[in-house]
Amino acid sequence: MGTNEGQPLQGMVDLTEPELARWRWFERHAQDVLGRYQVAEIRTPLLERAALFEHAVGEGTDVVQKEMYRLTDRGGRELALRPEGTAGVMRHLAGRGPEAEQARLYYLGPMFRAERPQAGRRRQFHQLGVELLGAPRPRADAECLALQWALLEKLNLPQLEFQINTRGAPADQPRVAAGYRAALEPRQGDLCADCRRRLATNVLRVLDCKQPGCQALGADLPPVVELLGAESQAYFEAVQQGLTALGVPYRVAPKLVRGLDYYAHTVWEVTAGGLGAQNALSGGGRYRIRVGARDLEGVGFAIGLERLLAAWEEAGGERPAPRPPALWLAALSPEAESEQLALAVRLRRVGLSCGLDLRGRSLKAQLRAANQAAARWVLVRGPDELADGTYVLKDLRTGEQSVLDEVGWLAHQRALTAREIV
Ligand code: AMP
Repeated sequence: MGTNEGQPLQGMVDLTEPELARWRWFERHAQDVLGRYQVAEIRTPLLERAALFEHAVGEGTDVVQKEMYRLTDRGGRELALRPEGTAGVMRHLAGRGPEAEQARLYYLGPMFRAERPQAGRRRQFHQLGVELLGAPRPRADAECLALQWALLEKLNLPQLEFQINTRGAPADQPRVAAGYRAALEPRQGDLCADCRRRLATNVLRVLDCKQPGCQALGADLPPVVELLGAESQAYFEAVQQGLTALGVPYRVAPKLVRGLDYYAHTVWEVTAGGLGAQNALSGGGRYRIRVGARDLEGVGFAIGLERLLAAWEEAGGERPAPRPPALWLAALSPEAESEQLALAVRLRRVGLSCGLDLRGRSLKAQLRAANQAAARWVLVRGPDELADGTYVLKDLRTGEQSVLDEVGWLAHQRALTAREIV
């Protein structure tokens, strides 16, 4: 085996226990909250046509231009591993009837981006995303944020913060771009080369640039909301009133724009402490996306699960311990091993978790395995027990051992099933 064969690809990880226990806990919690908000699940394919993301996410975005895993299939079709979840959901909805325009959907699954791996940045990561379709209404944006708050609140994350801003109605956006361009053009020389290009193509992205020179210029720009028309301003005001009424804490981040072109009105980012530089847990906003000939409007967000779970762990969030088996079955002969296997399968069918080792090893080795699995009770049977219908039960916690007849064993089994003795 070569040196790399036991390793996953760079930027990808195998998820294992006990970390997965935390994932399952969050997934169940999320399903519960989403159910109460009447949001239904959708699972879309991991592979899509590359053109879907080019159109829905935008050809000029880093995600599509630099980070998308592209491949050509045997029929010469240009495909991509999905880098995000919204485009697939929109493709699905574009092919449905008018009810699509009111859909309330969520997805949970892996996304792929060929980024430089670092702490908090992987090439395969997972997102929980929500899309609430419908025309712009401040109350719908507030409901979406309240849903996200409900998903996160229970985790008690440190420094959890919802930063919100507005991009304004689509009709107002050229005015914002023109205002920013006019402010930045006289100081072009202080911008990085990328941002000088962005001046013409997508001036708002200067605000996302990490170069100190560009950040300094960005800080001097007026808040987006000041460049908007009265209707867009009133919309944003109404969203904030809605959030206050619903008890969702937030802070206005006047220059938050989020790079993508399809955003209109409310945009937001959620951050938490303990994550270092990659402290963004989630991004969201109201959008209008064109798929084929159809425009779909909605509001949504995507939460990065790796980062969420890292923040949770950082905050000392309890890691659920793996559930130990209710019973370990040990055997002293091949015939007893067959009997114990049959018994284990029967017990599992009625709901007991059972462990056993089918390698014909010594009793000592079997007891060691039971100990490692944190089992309390071990049921031992060999040729003698099979012959006279008895069961040797060992309590690993006390070291005590008793010989049970059929009736005694059934009583113990009932107690285990009722979880009276764990
Ligand atoms: P985006 O789709 O870029 O708005 O990302 C939404 C969220 O997904 C981010 O806030 C992160 O929590 C998470 N995320 C995005 N890219 C990655 C990545 N490469 N590795 C891990 N998490 C990511």
